[in-house]
Amino acid sequence: MKKRILMISIPALCVLLAVGVFAYQKWLSPRLSLELNGAEACVVEVFSEYQDDGANAYYGGRLFGFQPVDVSERDDLDLSKLGTYTVEYTSRYKDFTLSAIRKVRVVDTTPPTLDCPDEITVYEGKQPQIEYTAIDEYDGDLTGQVQSEREGDVLILRVSDSSGNTVEHRVTIHMIPDTEPPVLTLLGEVECFVRQGEEWSEPGYTALDQADGDISAQVRVEGEVTPDLTGTYLLTYTVTDAAGNSTQAERTVTVYPHLTVSTSTVPANGAVVYLTFDDGPGSYTARLLDLLDEYEAKATFFVTGQFTGYLDLIGDAFSRGHTIGVHTLTHDFAIYSSVSDYFADLGAMEEIVKEQTGSYTDVIRFPGGSSNTVSKNYCEGIMSRLVGMVEEQGYSYFDWNVSSGDTSTTDPDEIFRNVTQGIAGKQASVVLMHDIKPATIEAIPRILDWCLENGYTLAPLSAASPTAHHGVQN
Ligand code: ZN
Repeated sequence: MKKRILMISIPALCVLLAVGVFAYQKWLSPRLSLELNGAEACVVEVFSEYQDDGANAYYGGRLFGFQPVDVSERDDLDLSKLGTYTVEYTSRYKDFTLSAIRKVRVVDTTPPTLDCPDEITVYEGKQPQIEYTAIDEYDGDLTGQVQSEREGDVLILRVSDSSGNTVEHRVTIHMIPDTEPPVLTLLGEVECFVRQGEEWSEPGYTALDQADGDISAQVRVEGEVTPDLTGTYLLTYTVTDAAGNSTQAERTVTVYPHLTVSTSTVPANGAVVYLTFDDGPGSYTARLLDLLDEYEAKATFFVTGQFTGYLDLIGDAFSRGHTIGVHTLTHDFAIYSSVSDYFADLGAMEEIVKEQTGSYTDVIRFPGGSSNTVSKNYCEGIMSRLVGMVEEQGYSYFDWNVSSGDTSTTDPDEIFRNVTQGIAGKQASVVLMHDIKPATIEAIPRILDWCLENGYTLAPLSAASPTAHHGVQN
């Protein structure tokens, strides 16, 4: 009996023992354990801050309790690049080693920023030109990838980043008609001068339209310059924009004659010519100054204040060696109403001369000359008093002994004839001309050629020069 019990008990004990060992090893023996805090996989926005929750490790068992063990952490995280990264945790204790990993996915869920106006104005018939920028925090500048789509009066702009985030902007288009004509600008002078036989070339032009932009290429030029034939040529420039608005401009080109006189047949005669120009400065004076420079000729300007935009040419003429004399501020014959009226006008013009040249002048010419009788209409005997008074004040007043006649003709040939016939045979010529007459300017090169080739010296007046007085008649 005992033996039987024993025989039954041995296998049972063995089973018990096995169960005991198994239970110990399974649940009771000391061991290392590692647990992640938080999820095994997580998603993070690119460029954001990532805070890992870490992991905890323990060593121990139910019989002996648990003690915390250090966990080391290693990762390949790059929060500035999209991708899936790994954070690996490792814990070691005695002969035990455990590791665990967490997957971190870096994603971009932010759409790009599309910067553009909400509405724009477009000229009828034109395509909308819209300025915009598209910037994505991750992909950078996406401006070149913006797609546009027209839906009636709305332009839809759309752009997606590399992660498929899309932004859309609707721009309202207001169509307006173009009613403004183009702006046509002529380059160079609007009054050009070319010496006969010399080449003429178009200085050019620009045409800008608010709707069409630069339409310079569409300018039509009508008219032609023939440099071999003297005369004044008119060039007309026309440009029309797409809406039919037109602009026109004009340019005149004066071909002035070039007189050739053989110097060998005309000996120098030692005579002096004083060219004097009244009533300016005006719109032709700058051209005249250039012509005089070209010939190295000096002249005298009896100036007025009639054309206020050209007063600087007084200083210009002075600095180029010409004499500045006073003619009158206003050129109104009412200045002959009284002595004080006359001197008020003279004094005002002197101030302008001083401002322009740095000093007053002592050279004057009476409007109408000292022999004028118009002054009688204003004040009987005024000229007789004025001629003495201006000399007392230190002025030399000049009349002329050669008249160009340029106030009664617009024919440069006639002016040339009047001047040259008047000069011929005189030792000193004071020539009356007006630099506000275009025909005079046109005749000047021929006159200068003639003077120089006939041996005349071209000189500016001074207070001591021949005055060519006419004699007072009022
Ligand atoms: Zn005058």
